[in-house]
Amino acid sequence: MTDAIRRVSRQVRVGPVRIGGDAPIVVQSMTNTDTADAGATVGQVVDLWRAGSELVRITVNTPEAAAQVARIRERLDALGCDVPLVGDFHFNGHRLLTRYPDCARALAKYRINPGNVGRGARRDEQFAAMIEVALRHDAAVRIGVNWGSLDAELLARMMDENARRPTPLASAEVMREALIASAIESAAQARSLGLQAERIVISCKVSGVQDLIAVYRELARRCDYALHLGLTEAGMGSKGIVASSAAMAVLLQEGIGDTIRVSLTPEPGGDRTREVLVAQELLQSLGLRSFAPMVTACPGCGRTTSTVFQELADRIQNYLRAQMPAWRELYPGVAEMRVAVMGCVVNGPGESRHADIGISLPGTNEFPVAPVYVDGEKTVTLKGERIPEEFMALVEEYVRRNFAPGAVRHRQEHSIRIKAVS
Ligand code: SF4
Repeated sequence: MTDAIRRVSRQVRVGPVRIGGDAPIVVQSMTNTDTADAGATVGQVVDLWRAGSELVRITVNTPEAAAQVARIRERLDALGCDVPLVGDFHFNGHRLLTRYPDCARALAKYRINPGNVGRGARRDEQFAAMIEVALRHDAAVRIGVNWGSLDAELLARMMDENARRPTPLASAEVMREALIASAIESAAQARSLGLQAERIVISCKVSGVQDLIAVYRELARRCDYALHLGLTEAGMGSKGIVASSAAMAVLLQEGIGDTIRVSLTPEPGGDRTREVLVAQELLQSLGLRSFAPMVTACPGCGRTTSTVFQELADRIQNYLRAQMPAWRELYPGVAEMRVAVMGCVVNGPGESRHADIGISLPGTNEFPVAPVYVDGEKTVTLKGERIPEEFMALVEEYVRRNFAPGAVRHRQEHSIRIKAVS
């Protein structure tokens, strides 16, 4: 794990989950089903939870959706899925939360967008109505500001003030400042209504990487609320993953961020749970949390004769992930295991020695054998058609031997030894 120092923040309880303070950084996600369709929503919440989402947000935008929330909660509980639900409210949240008390009670957190609460005097009234419901049901609140729906009155006021300055700031800077002011002023307003700082999470989402970094650095400097981190409208596929990772990695490395969401646009027919996997891999790659054993695989090159090593790396990665729900209970610490699957002798043996267990497959013109390394030592050489199956059996045996309760691991000694010889 990394020694990066986390920003000190207030800890917020959301059902059984803790956000901020000394709690691990929480992974969350959001459904894209119609909440009025309770069956589809329950199915997707369960999928996201099984993938590792520790909070799941659902849209609550209509009376029909609000009427289903308590039923969704009951069905999840009946399935043993205790993931806290977060309600996402815009425009009519004050009405839905007051008219559907079962919905308000079933949600552990309300996301309120200060830019979509209302205009003029009604804005304060409607905001207050939602905070009062949160107080009544002891729900946490995320003040979730978004670049695309920034409070228009606040922005206009700040633009006017800026225009009167002797040296006006660039409009992008005023926009960033308005995002931060909207979050901090709304949080102060919630506190003046009686909501404790330990019930408030704030976020200021933008779609540009540099904007996100600048806004959150400033937010972190100005307040100690728990922070929800995420790039909004990150996009599809690799673009969304790279942009989210680039922005969040910088902030997380600086200790900023208590809960994260990777907002990926799913490809047609794509799997919604991918955003959970990406968030976990981001945190694990940074050494902030461990969710599943990491497989180090080389990219392959002209030295490899076949796709055997790609298939093996893929099989191993999928196999390890599939085992995690059971292994997490049976084998504490197994998520930190490192497995290497390499394509030839150039880097294969070296990388395999650094892993807990690794295999180096034969490249072009290499003798068709695959040496296996365990805790830095070559233990066996596999040959023939069944190399993948035999290696997976060795991985399983390694897990049993090293992670079962009471097992003594050699990894620490192994790392020290590697340092000593490198
Ligand atoms: S380990 Fe071998 S096969 Fe893999 S990328 Fe390096 S040289 Fe190519």
